[in-house]
Amino acid sequence: IRNDFIQAVEFSHDLFRVHVKKGSTVIDATAGNGHDTCFLASLVGEKGQVYSFDIQKKAIEKTKALLKEQNLEERVYLIHDGHENLDNYIKGQFIDGVIFNLGYLPGGDKKIITTPDTTITALKKCLPLIKPGGIVVIVIYTGHEGGKDEEEKIIKYAEKLNYTEYNVLRYHFINQRKTPPQVLAIKKRL
Ligand code: SAM
Repeated sequence: IRNDFIQAVEFSHDLFRVHVKKGSTVIDATAGNGHDTCFLASLVGEKGQVYSFDIQKKAIEKTKALLKEQNLEERVYLIHDGHENLDNYIKGQFIDGVIFNLGYLPGGDKKIITTPDTTITALKKCLPLIKPGGIVVIVIYTGHEGGKDEEEKIIKYAEKLNYTEYNVLRYHFINQRKTPPQVLAIKKRL
């Protein structure tokens, strides 16, 4: 038995373990250092595919190197562009899951952050691409400047999603001293 509830990133991965299978197609909207992309690439298996976006060349390179190390690069399309443009690359309703890990690149420039406008544009564009039963998972950080504003706007957007079409969950520790990340998960109902 564990001593505590699992942390946000671990919870986001558990959601993918439940909703994604071998052969699935998924999107990593924020490649960053490549941890989520690698996790997803191993989950979807040899026949699956991952589309992975980032606006920073450094992030794309980091992700590419990590994928190579783990021999996973063949199942991943690395796209050096903003997730708000994902509809230029992906068309059709065949996506099983999308992950967003917001904020800044750990170890990189803390001024380059995801923004409410582009994040919400990307959310609006990816929902129609999700298969019924599929998920969009957003890991939200509020400890940096701009983070709280992004959190509020995303929650406001998500709570208005029609409950007959989408099931929306918020996973949030509410009694901690620091500001731990939280998870917002949107499931397209069958
Ligand atoms: N998922 C990553 C990992 O596992 O290492 C961490 C992602 S990091 C917290 C956030 C990333 O989002 C940064 O690398 C940043 O460059 C990227 N980003 C910011 N705005 C973006 C946008 N509009 N489209 C795609 N990526 C963006």
